[in-house]
Parts: sequence; structure tokens; C-alpha cells
Amino acid sequence: MSSQPPNLILFGPQGSGKGTQAKLLVDKYHYHSIGTGDLMRSYATHKDALGRKIRSLINHGELVPDKIIESIFSHEVTKIPADQPIVFDGYPRNLNQAHFLDTLLVKLERPLPVALYLNLPRAVVFERLASRYVCSECGTIVRSLPSLLRQLVCPKCGTSVAMRKDDKPEVIETRLNLFYSQTFLLVDHYKKLNRLTEINGEATIEQVQTVIATALHLPPSI
Ligand code: AMP
Repeated sequence: MSSQPPNLILFGPQGSGKGTQAKLLVDKYHYHSIGTGDLMRSYATHKDALGRKIRSLINHGELVPDKIIESIFSHEVTKIPADQPIVFDGYPRNLNQAHFLDTLLVKLERPLPVALYLNLPRAVVFERLASRYVCSECGTIVRSLPSLLRQLVCPKCGTSVAMRKDDKPEVIETRLNLFYSQTFLLVDHYKKLNRLTEINGEATIEQVQTVIATALHLPPSI
């Protein structure tokens, strides 16, 4: 393996900790992160037709069509210098996107990514999302029971936290069904390509971080 950390796909069901682990890779190992969920949420604030369409899809828990996300995603990848590692958080979400990603990276002469699957049982997903609140300012995730929420502000910046609109039980159901019918196929896909590592997403943030660092042959910290 070269001294350059590998490009990396983090995938797993909602609430499995992909975003948290991606942030840690950015902070500790100087990765660039492309989080398509955050990207789509930022497009959803636009007042044009595309913004309205994306906002409606997100709020209903549906996926943004591949053709729309491809051009936005490619643009983000080309902004990052080719010799710097990227963690892909939320992309690919289906086999078509997985093929698109490899083709794009080959075209840009960038190394193909390895894939880390954060496995989490369905019941735990519901539990985690039902107590997940997000800081509107810095994106920090806070876990709390609704009854305690009134006293709750972001521990990092003091801004109030809120539940994501798509973390309602009925929308979670749609998002999870899409995960198991489309994204889960990536487990087999990357296994066959010998590029998959599976990780227990129920472990603590620190434990998952250590397993990721070991799987990628990264030093304990840079
Ligand atoms: P997330 O925060 O990763 O759960 O993503 C929030 C929403 O953004 C998803 O429910 C989709 O509507 C959209 N989205 C994010 N990534 C993708 C993707 N790779 N393909 C299609 N839609 C996506």
C-alpha cells in the first residue's frame, strides 16, 4: 500500500455513524469528505425548481435521481486535488452509482476506493434515529429523549438542536426500505471486487474509529 491513505466509501443504514466517522477521518487523517446527504440538504434550501424537487424528495425519504446527483457529485470530486484522499459518505447508494464512481475516478486518474460497511440491526436504527437531534449551525449530533430536549443546546457552539424532518418514523421506514433494497447490494458488489470490510456499527464511536484505522493501515493518529 502507498503512504497515501486510500479513498474510502463509508456506507451503512441510517444512523450507523457514517457522518461521525467521516468527520473524524477529516480531523485526524486530513481526509476530504464528500457527504451527499449534507450536499443535498444544502441544495434543498435553494428557491429554484431543482431546490424544491430535492427538498420534496428528502422530506419523503426518497432518493434523488442518479442523473441529478451525478453532476453535483462529480463537480465536488474534481474540486479536490488528485493526491489527497477522499471519504465518500452517502455515495454510492446503489449499483449504478457504484459503477459511476469507479468510472469517474478512473477518468480522473484517482485510486479506486475501498468500501467500509457499518452494519447495524434495523431495530437499533429506529432507536438511534428517534433520539437523534442535529445542531442547525455546525451539524453536531446530540442524542436525547424528547422530554429532556428543552434544556438541550449543541455542546460545541450553543445553538439549539432539532430533529431532522426525515427522521420521522414513517419516513425512516421508507429510507430503510430503500437502503435494504438498493444500497445493501453494495455489500456483495464490493465483496466480489475484494474491496469490502464489514464493521460492527453497534460498537462505540472510538471502537469503530480504531477498527477503521486498523483496516486502512492508518497510524493511531496523525
Ligand atoms: P442522508 O443524510 O445520507 O440520509 O441523505 C439525506 C437524503 O439526501 C436522502 O434521503 C436522499 O434524498 C438524498 N441523498 C443523499 N445521498 C444520495 C445519493 N447518493 N443518491 C440519491 N439521493 C441521495
